[in-house]
Amino acid sequence: MTVTPLALTRPASVTDAFLRRLAARVPDSSGATWKLTEVYTGEALVELPQSTPADIEQAFATARAAQEKWAATPLKRRLEVFKRAHALFVGRARIVTDLIQAESGKNRRMAIEETCDPAMVMSHYLTRAAKLLAPAKRGGPVPFLTTSTEIRQPKGVVGIIAPWNFPFATGISDAIPALMAGNAVVLKPDNKTALSPLYGVEMLEEAGLPKGLFQVVCGEGPDVGPTLIDQANYVMFTGSTATGRVIGERAGRNLIGCCLELGGKNPMIVLEDADLAEAVQGAVFGAFGNTGQICMHIERIYLPESRYDEFKNAYVAKARALDVRAAYDFGPDMGSLVSVDHMNRVKAHVDDAVAKGATVLCGGKPRPDLGPAFFEPTILEGVTKDMLCGVTETFGPVVALHKYRTVDEAVALANDTEYGLNASVWGGDVIAARAVAARVESGNVNINDILATAYASKGTPSGGVKNSGVGARHGDQGLLKYTDVKNVAVLKKQVMGPRGGQTYEKYVEGMLSGLKLMRRLRIR
Ligand code: NAD
Repeated sequence: MTVTPLALTRPASVTDAFLRRLAARVPDSSGATWKLTEVYTGEALVELPQSTPADIEQAFATARAAQEKWAATPLKRRLEVFKRAHALFVGRARIVTDLIQAESGKNRRMAIEETCDPAMVMSHYLTRAAKLLAPAKRGGPVPFLTTSTEIRQPKGVVGIIAPWNFPFATGISDAIPALMAGNAVVLKPDNKTALSPLYGVEMLEEAGLPKGLFQVVCGEGPDVGPTLIDQANYVMFTGSTATGRVIGERAGRNLIGCCLELGGKNPMIVLEDADLAEAVQGAVFGAFGNTGQICMHIERIYLPESRYDEFKNAYVAKARALDVRAAYDFGPDMGSLVSVDHMNRVKAHVDDAVAKGATVLCGGKPRPDLGPAFFEPTILEGVTKDMLCGVTETFGPVVALHKYRTVDEAVALANDTEYGLNASVWGGDVIAARAVAARVESGNVNINDILATAYASKGTPSGGVKNSGVGARHGDQGLLKYTDVKNVAVLKKQVMGPRGGQTYEKYVEGMLSGLKLMRRLRIR
């Protein structure tokens, strides 16, 4: 690993006045604040206001009033806001990148990629929303005499709770289809990473989103969560499986829908005929991209015995050569973890594995010389299920190598987890790789890629199975989940029930013959 001493100048865009302007968007009647810091240095960036339950109720009341007008605005005009916003988001990508880096400590390459996500989501739903939201005429129960029309209505105010690992993408991208569908949004970002989503809301308003429609409230999850869920008509949550259970329980009690995008312990299966150089390069990104803090990243790699050493040697060499440091330029391959607390959690996973017999092939240690929350890219061998990192998500730059003898064994090992968010299968024969993908229990499977191909395919729903989530983002359901269905049915003439002295027996005979005829004619 290359070590470069810390010499850091904050980007010119991250001025105190800019940060105070963003923080001023957060309602705070109590005056309580939270010190939001620059991760690379631990220095304070801004005092972030903390919203009280009364502030959150007020934010919902304001959003609800704005939503009535917004829902009554023709869809075409609503979508024009997002056409303008797309241009703004792309034009200001570098400023957003500065904010994301300052608040999360990730490297610049990942931060700029994150800025692209809301623009991609806007592009996708700009071409799809009108079709999805248009009333759809369905056949009624009696051909020609009845119709049923599926009408999509906004749910009202959607509560979004977002994590720190992709604050701009999860905070803004998940709001876009909700807003397009005619909803208002109240977002609760993580305190650590509230700046980039606040700037996203500012840009949306600059593009013409009505003021008040998209509110941001801040605070610790357990303080803000209950009021937010109790006020919302639908909840979109991204975060850990443990918190997802709390959110899902409360949403269930309130009889509102929710989408839960949760954690993973994602496997990578390398097949015998895989291009090893590409698989190794993929595994570098899969384990160390975003400092290992991507929900869909790889924490377990399964290798055929015949190619284990070859892969291991090349992988360890590449991990050791990574440029890890703090910089606001595109140089480093990997940045910091998000906080010292999180770094200690990652360290605890590695220490536990080592204490129980795992071998550290490279890395394994914090790097305070690089910044307060840096941790080395770490590759382990000999990880078992009695180790913390053998079963639960580490969410850091830590990955374990495993050997397998048969493909059946590789699939069984990959599926031996309570999670099911993402999997990656590498092989030269794509048909064989697809057959393996079909057997892996996961909401996403990438063949010859780690995660980007699935996640960037905005037309296909992306979500987790097992303990990795409920529902999905992207695809048609990524927008339709923010709507209620109204079934408006029309009967043109009363024909149900016996007519003109007909006995019930005769009526039933006619009705059953009608069912047969409809089946033959394939009328539903
Ligand atoms: P977390 O669950 O601790 O927090 C996520 C959000 O929930 C934060 O805003 C937090 O303040 C809030 N929160 C915490 N407790 C709450 C409560 N009781 N009520 C309401 N809100 C509460 O998760 P994290 O550590 O911030 O994020 C990392 C996790 O997110 C990882 O497990 C990762 O896999 C997961 N993640 C999943 C996806 C996905 O799409 N599946 C994407 C990104 C991150």
